[in-house]
Amino acid sequence: MNTQADSVSSQRTPLDATRIRADFPLLARQVHGKPLVYLDNANTAQKPREVIEAVDRFYRQTNANVSRAVHTLGEEATAAYEATRDKLARFIHAPSRDEIVLTSGTTQAINLVAYSYALPRLKAGDEILVTTMEHHANIVSWQVIAERVGAKVVAAPITPAGELIVDEFIARLTPRVKLAGVVHVSNVLGTINPVRELAKACRARGIPLLVDGSQAAPHLRVDVQALGCDFYALTGHKLFGPTGTGALWARKELLRDMPPFFGGGEMIRTVSFDGTTFADPPHRFEAGTPNIAGFVGLGAAIDYVNGLGLDRTGARERELLDHATAALTCVPGLRLFGQAREKAAVLSFLIDGAHAHDLATLLDHEGIAVRSGHHCAHPLMQFYGVPATVRASLAFYNTHEEIDTLVRAIAKVRKLLA
Ligand code: PMP
Repeated sequence: MNTQADSVSSQRTPLDATRIRADFPLLARQVHGKPLVYLDNANTAQKPREVIEAVDRFYRQTNANVSRAVHTLGEEATAAYEATRDKLARFIHAPSRDEIVLTSGTTQAINLVAYSYALPRLKAGDEILVTTMEHHANIVSWQVIAERVGAKVVAAPITPAGELIVDEFIARLTPRVKLAGVVHVSNVLGTINPVRELAKACRARGIPLLVDGSQAAPHLRVDVQALGCDFYALTGHKLFGPTGTGALWARKELLRDMPPFFGGGEMIRTVSFDGTTFADPPHRFEAGTPNIAGFVGLGAAIDYVNGLGLDRTGARERELLDHATAALTCVPGLRLFGQAREKAAVLSFLIDGAHAHDLATLLDHEGIAVRSGHHCAHPLMQFYGVPATVRASLAFYNTHEEIDTLVRAIAKVRKLLA
């Protein structure tokens, strides 16, 4: 278990994989009689003991609703829930905790911006600019509202290596564009997009930029002020926290002018049948009872990641990526998707003659969890002309041995599928 105190003295030393793995109880399990090799971290990450215990402790000792009660448990629950807002604000270097809206994840965060910010401003002929490598959350959310008013979603192209063509993105920032969206780190290719550069170009044209940070927040140091974007969405379960948690960061002046997306309890100032006045942000956007225990767990996850140090976890993941890239490129008949110069530890691939799902199923029999499919990125699959890929996505708790096990298993199943 890593405490804040011992992490400070050890932030300069590399991560000790054996020690770190012991923090994640699930990593010790077996699948089909083999030790689990969990390489599906971009889908959801495993949870350290601290997170599991924080959720357990909340239900055993504190459980109460937030904001509605003056009794001790209610006050404790509210304080614990609100503490995660503070931790998130510090984690992404937001200027104010009031700019953090707690959501169920990235999907809800983007939909909140779509309905509360974009929809009231969009008219026929307007455009929302995204990129070819977006997750459906950053495509479909915009299409649903664009259709209502006759606006459309357009995409900036990428290179075959999986890099955004920045000049083409900037060239598409015409006066028709009312909002731009970009994924910080691609969940399929691992590409790290040049968000600062894109934000600068958007800002110069008065176009707000939303960044989908689902895959970035767990692996990179995110500083929304340095990035210069306007909206930043993230998901807690990929950040080693519970499912059903996430956040939207938005500039105060944008949130202030946004009407609520959901109506209900906890988001109002006064209600009568003649009309209702709403609470200030962020509570205006948090109607109903939230996933309180989940957010308590997310707070513990942020403490845990901070305790390890993002510089160290990032360095560890870069080293794992280098090892995995070298090992996979030696596999005959393997096609790797995504060779961006700036890349996170995500490896999408196909083997000649083998369907992605067959490959993933056979790997599962070897105890190896990888994802196969379109990864909620149909346009990207269309760009590469494939229906699906297999994706191995790494976290700092993975090991070189696990990558070697994957490569050996691919060689074995290739023979079965040949
Ligand atoms: N964007 C990206 C890049 C993702 O990888 C994901 C999750 N696969 C999402 C958005 C959606 O996140 P969630 O399902 O947690 O809302």
